[in-house]
Amino acid sequence: MSALQTPGFEDVKAAAARLAGQAHRTPVMRSRTVDAATGAQFFFKCENFQRMGAFKFRGAFNALSYFDAAQRRAGVAAFSSGNHAQAIALAAQILGIPATILMPTDAPAMKVAATRGYGGEVVLYDRYTQDREALARELADKRGMTLIPPYDHPHVIAGQGTAALELLEDTGPLDALYVCLGGGGLLSGSALSARALAPQCKVYGVEPEAGNDGQQSFREGRIVHIDTPRTIADGAQTQHLGEHTFAVIRRDADDVFTATDGELVEGMRFFAERMKMLVEPTGCLAFAAARRLAEPGQRIGVIVSGGNVDLKRFGQLLEGAGA
Ligand SMILES: *Cc1c(COP(=O)(O)O)cnc(C)c1O
Repeated sequence: MSALQTPGFEDVKAAAARLAGQAHRTPVMRSRTVDAATGAQFFFKCENFQRMGAFKFRGAFNALSYFDAAQRRAGVAAFSSGNHAQAIALAAQILGIPATILMPTDAPAMKVAATRGYGGEVVLYDRYTQDREALARELADKRGMTLIPPYDHPHVIAGQGTAALELLEDTGPLDALYVCLGGGGLLSGSALSARALAPQCKVYGVEPEAGNDGQQSFREGRIVHIDTPRTIADGAQTQHLGEHTFAVIRRDADDVFTATDGELVEGMRFFAERMKMLVEPTGCLAFAAARRLAEPGQRIGVIVSGGNVDLKRFGQLLEGAGA
C-alpha cells in the first residue's frame, strides 16, 4: 500500500470511469433560503443520496476494483466508525469479495446493522482504549486479507475525489468549495479535482471544533495527533490526517475551519426543514462553516457528505438532548 504513490487528478478520472454505473451521480441542489440569507449562490452536492448513504462508497469501490484474483479470494479487512464499514461491505458484496470490519462499540447502531446487512463480518473494539489500526493490521495479517484504510490510501482518495469532479462538471467554476474533514480522504480528493477543473476555487476543509487536528496540521505544516475527540460528528472523530491525505491537503487546500456541535445541529434542522433531507451530523460540517463565511456574490460548493443517522438520535439531537 505504501508502495502506491500519492494520487493525482488522473487517478480521480480513472476512478470516475471505474465507478460509472456503480456509484450514483448524486444531485446538486440549491436553496433560495440560503442564497437570500447570504447573498451568495450555494450548490449542495448531496452525497447523502449516494449508495449506502455517503460518499465513502466511491473510495471503497474504487479501491476494491483494483484487487487481483488472489486478493479477491482472501478478502478485505477495514476499520471504521461506520460509513467506511458500510461502504466496504457493500462494495465487497457487489464484487463478490469477503469482508471483515472492525467497528467501535459505540458506533451508531444503524451503521453496525447496515454493515452486517451488506454481508460484512463485524468485529467490535473500544474506541477510547484500543488502537484500531494495530488491531486491524493484526486481523488482516492473520487472515491474509488486504486492509483498506478509511482515508489514507491512494485509490480511496481518488474515489472520494469523484464527488467534487461531478460537482464542478455540473456547476462550472466555483469561488469556494467547502468539504467535511475527518482523516482527509474527501478533502484531498476534492482538492485534486478542484485544482484541475477550477484553479481559482478556494478549497476549505471543515472539521469538528472538538478535534481540530487537521487545522493544526495544515497551519503548522506537520501531521498533528490528538486524542479521539468527543463530538456528535461521529464520522470525523479521527485523531490525525494520513500521509497521503496530508501531502495533498497541504499542497492543494487553502485552509481548514471548524464547526461546533451546536452548528451541526442547526445544519441538520435546516436540511430537514428547508431541503427535506436527512443529513447526519458529520455531513453538516461543510455547510456550517460555509454559511458563516459566505461572502455576497460568491459561488459556493458544499459537499453534504452523508445521511446515515438513527432517526431516534436525530430527534434527540434536535431536541438538544446532547451527544
Ligand atoms: C468519513 C466521513 C467524513 C470524513 O471523511 P474523511 O475522508 O475521513 O475526511 C465526512 N462525512 C461523512 C458522512 C463521512 O462518512
